[in-house]
This record gives sequence, structure tokens and C-alpha cells, in this order.
Amino acid sequence: MAAHPLREGRLLNPELELLDAAGRRAYLDARLRATARIGLEELGQKPIPRKDTLSKMQAEDPPLAGLLAGPVSRLRRMFASPGPTYVPQGSAIDYWRFGMAFAACGMRAGDVVMNTLSYHLTPGGFMLDSGLRSLGCVVIPAGTAETIAQVKAASVLKATGYAGTPSFLRTLLLRARELNLPLHFEVAFATAEMLPESLRVELEGFGIRVLQGYATADLGVLAYECSEKNGMHLQPECIVEILDLESGKPAEPGQPGQVVGTTFDADYPLLRFATGDVSALLPEAPCPCGRTAPKLKGILGRVGDAIKVKGMFVRGSQMEEVMRTFPAVLRFQAVVTRAEHQDHLEYLVELGPGASLDTEALAEALREVVKVRGGVRIGAVAAGAPRIDDRRVWK
Ligand SMILES: [Zn+2]
Repeated sequence: MAAHPLREGRLLNPELELLDAAGRRAYLDARLRATARIGLEELGQKPIPRKDTLSKMQAEDPPLAGLLAGPVSRLRRMFASPGPTYVPQGSAIDYWRFGMAFAACGMRAGDVVMNTLSYHLTPGGFMLDSGLRSLGCVVIPAGTAETIAQVKAASVLKATGYAGTPSFLRTLLLRARELNLPLHFEVAFATAEMLPESLRVELEGFGIRVLQGYATADLGVLAYECSEKNGMHLQPECIVEILDLESGKPAEPGQPGQVVGTTFDADYPLLRFATGDVSALLPEAPCPCGRTAPKLKGILGRVGDAIKVKGMFVRGSQMEEVMRTFPAVLRFQAVVTRAEHQDHLEYLVELGPGASLDTEALAEALREVVKVRGGVRIGAVAAGAPRIDDRRVWK
């Protein structure tokens, strides 16, 4: 059990974090008009570039597709992010807007914080770094240095905070225990991967408060958790839309859709950038923390990994979960077709050498989790094939 109560978070910018719905709309409308010269009403008609679109635009008009508001010399840094897209860091101190997220999780001035996202070429390390420094934290730029060196540095430099993936925090804690080195972490900001509740509970058992945030390389932070640990409040200084995967129209609260973000940075505004991540807005309800921004449910998957079949959302991750319990399965692909206006789902399954499979039992196990009936057929599946192949043609 923790020897001390877990750290409390706080509001960093109550003026923005406590805005009512009308105030939020007026604020975002004004920001949008200042950077894009359109209002919120018109935003819905703008095209929605995806990462590959942006990548192509950058290739045709290097380096940043003409989207920079000023000369390159105004920037602080430039990065290459996986994708591939090139990402600028403009002149703002906390360019990617992480301050409120870190304050909510309990980081404060004077904390010595191990930052374990990479500083090399990709923006992750500097994203967290600039946000932490904006709060007055002292950053250890650990990046992806080897584990033992990180444990020693955290121990000797008495790091009180951690920023990075939750799984690597766990690695550091376990390794420190093996090495008999004391660690002093009290607060951790988890990002860049899923945070299962079981892992959070384990980390909290070390006396560390762990909250998470959602960010992308192109847009910075879009949402962050509060003490309720029940969804992530939208960051108030950007627009986040959740768009239905089929119609592209705003999804109802509770319904999954693609996360599309708009940022207002004076150097590099991005309008309706499609992240490829799938999330859902939680139904609006007052949050005990006082923050008024709507909440994201968390990241549910990637676009292309979740599709509607027979009116139900099915996800590759759910299928994978079931397939893993059938060791005979080497690879699989769900194939969705449509005939006579009916969706048809079939799982193509490749078995390991010499393995055999009860296809009925697998089909039944899949139906339990995926909720849509589909047959199982044994055959060859290409390595690296997407988990869902949607072959439906809509006319
Ligand atoms: Zn809250």
C-alpha cells in the first residue's frame, strides 16, 4: 500500500477549464475566426485531411505544404513523425498545450520529472518537455536511454514525476526494486499507449498517482483525464470532433467515430485533421472535478479496424482477443461482403503447422464477443494483412 495519500491535481486555467457550453463555443469561434477566418458554423463544410493526405501535400509542397503562417525561421524545431509527416514546433512556450493536462495529473513547479518519450527526430519528447517546463518542472530528458541508466538517474536525481508510457514506468519500478535503488515518483502522466485499469492500480500501489492524456504527433494534446479517471476532458484550446465512420457527420454521444482535431496555433494552424483514431464522446454530465469540457471515452481503436456490420460496430481488437485463446490460429482476417443488401461476415483463418481447429467452437466464441454471427473458413492469410477486409461496395 502507498505510504502517503496520492497527489492531488489542480486546475491550471480555471477561466478556460470552467467555461460553460455557450462560453466555450464563443471562445472556440473567436479562435477559429482569428486563425482560419471562418466560424464554427462553417467548419463542418471544410475538407478533412488524413495523415496520408498531409504527407502527400508536404511532398508536393515541401517542407510543410504551405501551411506555415510565417517563415521557417520563426520555428523552434522541426520533426519527422511516423506516418510520415513533418511537424513544426512553433514559438509558443507550451506549443502542444500540455500544461493543463500535467496540472490535472498533479505535476507542479519544482517537480523533477523523468521524460521517457523519444527526443530523436519525432516530437514526443519535446512535446512533454515543453509542457512540463511551462509549469516550472525540472525535466530529465531520459528519452529512450537504457533502463538501468534511467533507474539510476531517477534515483540519484530524486525524480518525483514521470512522463511517458505506463508500461515503461512499470519496467522502471520493477528494475529499481531488483537493483535495490529507491525511487521517489509521486505522480505520472501516462500517454502514447493504452492504460489498462489493472496496470493503473498496480502503479498506484507504488504510491504514484497515474493519469493519462491523449495526444497525436500532428496535433499535440487533445484530451486529458481528471481525478475521476472516467474519460478524458477535451483540451479547451482546440476543437475535437467525433465523426461517424460511415457518414462523416458528428457522432452522437456514446457512438464511436473518428477523432478529428482543429488547432489554432499562430504558426501552424491545422483544420480538421483526421487522426485515424476511433473514440466516442461520453454523454454530457457535470463532472465532480468542475471541468466543463466534454469527455472522450478513451481510444477505442483505429479507423479501418472498426466497421459497422449488420448495424453493429465490430473491431479487429475484439477478434484478436478471441483468436488469441485458440493457439492453433496463426493468422486471421475477417472478410465482410454484401449481397442482396445483407452484410456477410466470414473469418478466414490460417493454422499453424500441423494444427487442427474446431471451427464451430471458434465461431461461437467470436459471436459471444463480436456480437455478429460469422462463419470460420480455414485458408491462407498473408502476413501483415489487415484484420478486417471490408469488400462491400456501396452504390
Ligand atoms: Zn473531470
